[in-house]
Amino acid sequence: MEKKQFQAESKRLLDMMIHSIYSQKEIFLREIISNSSDAIDKIYYHALTNEDIVFNQEDYYIKLVANKEDRTLTIIDTGIGMTKEELETNLGTIAKSGSLAFKNENETKDGHTIIGQFGVGFYSSFMVADVVTVISKALGSNEAYKWESTGAEGYTIEPVEKASIGTEIILKLKENQEDESYDEFLEEYRLKQIVKKYSDFIRYPIKLDVSTRKQIEGDENTFEETIEEQTINSMIPIWRKNKNELTDEDYHNFYAEKHYGFDQPIKYIHTSVDGAIRYQAILYIPESIPFDYYSKEFEKGLELYSNGVLIMNKCAELLPDHFSFVKGMVDSEDLSLNISREILQQDRQLKLIAKNLQKKIKNELQSLQKNDRDKYETFYQSFGRQLKYGVYSDFGANKEDLKDLIMFYSSKEKKSVTLAEYVSRMAEDQKYIYYATGESIERIEKLPQTELVLDKGFEILYLIEDIDEFAIKMLMNYNEKEFKSVSSGDLGFEEDEKQSQTAEAEEENKDLFKEMKDLLAGKVKDVKISKRLKSHPVCLSTDGEVSIEMEKVLAAMPNNQEVKAEKLLEINPNHQVFQSLKNAFTHDKEKLALYTNLLYNQALLIEGLPIQDPVEFTNDMCKVMV
Ligand code: ADP
Ligand code: MG
Repeated sequence: MEKKQFQAESKRLLDMMIHSIYSQKEIFLREIISNSSDAIDKIYYHALTNEDIVFNQEDYYIKLVANKEDRTLTIIDTGIGMTKEELETNLGTIAKSGSLAFKNENETKDGHTIIGQFGVGFYSSFMVADVVTVISKALGSNEAYKWESTGAEGYTIEPVEKASIGTEIILKLKENQEDESYDEFLEEYRLKQIVKKYSDFIRYPIKLDVSTRKQIEGDENTFEETIEEQTINSMIPIWRKNKNELTDEDYHNFYAEKHYGFDQPIKYIHTSVDGAIRYQAILYIPESIPFDYYSKEFEKGLELYSNGVLIMNKCAELLPDHFSFVKGMVDSEDLSLNISREILQQDRQLKLIAKNLQKKIKNELQSLQKNDRDKYETFYQSFGRQLKYGVYSDFGANKEDLKDLIMFYSSKEKKSVTLAEYVSRMAEDQKYIYYATGESIERIEKLPQTELVLDKGFEILYLIEDIDEFAIKMLMNYNEKEFKSVSSGDLGFEEDEKQSQTAEAEEENKDLFKEMKDLLAGKVKDVKISKRLKSHPVCLSTDGEVSIEMEKVLAAMPNNQEVKAEKLLEINPNHQVFQSLKNAFTHDKEKLALYTNLLYNQALLIEGLPIQDPVEFTNDMCKVMV
């Protein structure tokens, strides 16, 4: 028997390996199985180029054998095996990858499916095992060898008997510690679980003897135990299958199996790209909002696979925030991984994939909106708010992408419409896209400010969510049509005749308005004749950037900044109340003060703003009654 030392650097590396490279112990199985898969791939490539080798799919597999008495877990493969020299170079030198060398030497078209590249994965077995034994017989060789190591001490190599070509890796599991148990790696359910998680899509069968207990017929107390060899991985990932071989049900099953959600997804997107970067992806648009979606706890991201092996559960970089509701996975053979194969080396490829996916999602949503409006509305009900946040956030960086996906309730259609639909219906003399803000559709419908715009036959968009007006302000315009609040000072369609009439009335009553303004000092910026009111006596409008709705939203924020809208009190000159104001102005100043306060408070109520002194307000009401 020859006893050899690991090289000095290797010793330290091995120590690091065992203690710090991997985040979880269970990873060792992923690494060993990946190596076996590579070994079978190599035989397959040889078969492609050498007529003497026949590759019968059934002859190639990986098998896991757990022996509870010996506390060993053995991983057997029928792959290419290793010669004595290969055992020494590939396993005796850490960071030496026979697989990388193989890939470089064999420029086969399919060469990219080989997983190994760093030459460290094998040593992860020392995370769970005290002794690692490798028995291997290489293709084309008559001798088999046993390599054995207890870790840092080095390794031994000696000849052994082995009938068939391939490799067996025997892991003598560590003794259980007080806080660490290694027994789990002997349990059938646990092995199945780990394989499902990381190695489900290894292209060769991973077999395991599974025991089942059956009751003997006619005898309640006797059971018969049968052991059956099962293949525990799915082998071909659904995303590598041809789209037309798959049914809706297949996609829905995958969604459920992967626990992406409990709902039925509204849409799935299966895409396979073979360009500058190669990847396959299956994405889902869920139907219902995850319970924590609009909370800090929610984590966005897609599952990331490299060559069918799971690398990351939630890769956040693959999704922009405004599409954070998307679930699914991406598999790419072109990712540069770091040594633990858990983290990406650099994210150039990832950024490219993310950019492509973003475009894809946008287009798919667009087509859903066009071709299946009901479904789109269900989707929008759940995630529309996120899209509007997307328009607003990052200083509007994504607004161009999102402007056609957002919708608002329309006064004309009595349902949600897109901005494109609104603009297509605009009257010839209509300059602006009008909108009104409020707590609910019902409330906006009763807003006096909407009267004149509706009277002109113009459509109004009803903005009822906090984010809405901020998004609209960020958009500024849609296809060169600017947005205009029905409460803004200038509505943009007053006829000349009406203009001069208002100017006249304003001039005539300027002392009255001056006095009212003084009475409301600090509360409103101005009191003026209204051009927009028809039947209502009074309303508020605003000057400047901040609207009343925005003032409310900002006031409700935790770091409330006391931003106030500049309010104007508008009086309808055609309402009888106006006459009463004029009379009071000339004959009874006390009454004028009473009326002014009442009207101001009414205007606040209409806007859904609180009145400062409700008791005084009700007392004032009583004063006009008696
Ligand atoms: P990597 O897989 O990144 O190359 P590993 O440390 O996992 O690194 O494995 C080192 C090398 O050992 C592999 O490249 C391969 O040449 C060889 N090897 C490991 N396991 C097997 C196996 N089951 N059959 C054949 N060769 C193997
Ligand atoms: Mg490996």
